[in-house]
Amino acid sequence: MSRGQKYRLRARSDREVIREVEPGKTYVDKETGEPFEVVGQVVPLAPSPSDLPYAVENLRLCGCSLEQLVQKDLNDCPHCDRRLPALEG
Ligand SMILES: [Zn+2]
Repeated sequence: MSRGQKYRLRARSDREVIREVEPGKTYVDKETGEPFEVVGQVVPLAPSPSDLPYAVENLRLCGCSLEQLVQKDLNDCPHCDRRLPALEG
């Protein structure tokens, strides 16, 4: 599994993708042929124990009194080191 830094890329038509990029390489939207521009880094900054962007659909409450949002693919809360319960479904 890759642990590279992810970036937000945007084409002129405002289509966006999130992916790792290699320096000097040009990325093109496969559907429209438009070149992507790097518009930002995605948190968490590498290296991170999580592969998920820090977006609301990827987060859950860790369940401790700190009530911290943590990424769903983590096994342990990075704030309190508590073991996170298995995801349902
Ligand atoms: Zn916690």
